Amino acid sequence: MTPVLTRTWDEPESWTLETYRRHDGYRALATALAMPPDDVIAAVKAAGLRGRGGAGFPTGVKWGYIPQGDGKPHYLVVNADESEPGTCKDVPLMMACPHELIEGVVIAAYAIRARQAFIYVRGEVAPVLRRLHAAVAEAAAAGYLGEDILGSGFSLDVVVHAGAGAYICGEETALLDSLEGRRGQPRLRPPFPATAGLYACPTVVNNVETIASVPAILREGAAWFRSMGTEKSPGFTLYSLSGHVARPGQYEAPLGTTLRDLLTRAGGVRDGHRLKFWTPGGSSTPILTAEHLDIPLDYEGVAAAGSMLGTKALQIFDETTCVVRAVLRWSEFYAHESCGKCTPCREGTFWLTRILEELERGTAGVDDLDKLLDVCDSVAGRSFCALGDAATSPIVSSVAHFRDEYLAHLRLGACPFPPERSALFA
Ligand code: NAD
Ligand code: SF4
Repeated sequence: MTPVLTRTWDEPESWTLETYRRHDGYRALATALAMPPDDVIAAVKAAGLRGRGGAGFPTGVKWGYIPQGDGKPHYLVVNADESEPGTCKDVPLMMACPHELIEGVVIAAYAIRARQAFIYVRGEVAPVLRRLHAAVAEAAAAGYLGEDILGSGFSLDVVVHAGAGAYICGEETALLDSLEGRRGQPRLRPPFPATAGLYACPTVVNNVETIASVPAILREGAAWFRSMGTEKSPGFTLYSLSGHVARPGQYEAPLGTTLRDLLTRAGGVRDGHRLKFWTPGGSSTPILTAEHLDIPLDYEGVAAAGSMLGTKALQIFDETTCVVRAVLRWSEFYAHESCGKCTPCREGTFWLTRILEELERGTAGVDDLDKLLDVCDSVAGRSFCALGDAATSPIVSSVAHFRDEYLAHLRLGACPFPPERSALFA
């Protein structure tokens, strides 16, 4: 496949407007502004673009939910609060080619008739903030943002907003609360943001990669987009390979590519080692094993294997990794990031971590493995937002695939993997 999102990344100063223009930059915007907004939505619907933030919701359908003629302001909010462990695609995208995102923002805002857009960035990632601020100024100076864009009569203001570094602010409604100046905690859905979002007005919240994929659809057409990927998961995407892999990084490929193919491009599992387990989409998605090397990495293929495509963050672990230790690290993350609003998640993530600590040290009792699963059962499906489910996914799946390894810890009274052998989780 010819690279789309990554086509400028190897250029010197790939982030400048000049480089972006040399690669068809802002050509799609002129096309879009010459169309009625509803036709832009129809083109994105026809392409079948699905949300790249994890859930895979159809983007054009989401845009189509924004009521028209309601007299209220509409908002576009880009979720650039990437924080899922292993997920690392949006930061490189914004660093390498911020104009791809900005062009997508203007097209999306035009389609949903928003005059104000926000890009909510993780506050700790200062280089991204600097790069976005510079790119927004560059785009405004060139007439791609601000009043009467390209003489179309459409005007848009874009604010780059720095979050304060809470994982829960990546949940769309917590993000909106945070943007409004409140403590970021999830709201009850429905109403979804499309109906009552920022300042209770119709709002589209989309992930960075989703919005950055829009210009190519307007430039090349829906049929071209659908010529890649699968029928239900069309198009190209960024797969992020990390962990025990020879060449970690971003790999752009059609949806439905297999891990085997991606590992071939990435030089394979690190020298002399073999794949033990991996996550298809960050730590929130149930882990898979070497048996799943050939499943198609699209929404349906990964679901059929008992997991979720999620953010396509493929974390690779070889045979030197203790699965219990890996799961404990993720559990500590969720316990730390639980916002505390609901009891199953607030209390459950605490207890899951305590039990996993004992299991990993080999000091747990014989019935603690059952207790671990029992607590998972009290958290998953009973928490206020998706964080509760996410916290239990790696635990339940690791016990399903590696029960013997949990039992070995109990039998030995210690972890069978000395810390110095596990490069990632020492
Ligand atoms: P969701 O399926 O509930 O919603 C997906 C999107 O569709 C949302 O924008 C929602 O508003 C919209 N939507 C769904 N039903 C709708 C309806 N009936 N009307 C209008 N809009 C509707 O998923 P979610 O809880 O928003 O996100 C969960 C996903 O986030 C997980 O799959 C996980 O992989 C991912 N995630 C990503 C990160 C990251 O760093 N990128 C971090 C944590 C989790
Ligand atoms: Fe907060 Fe966790 Fe409840 Fe979500 S599930 S509202 S993060 S306590």
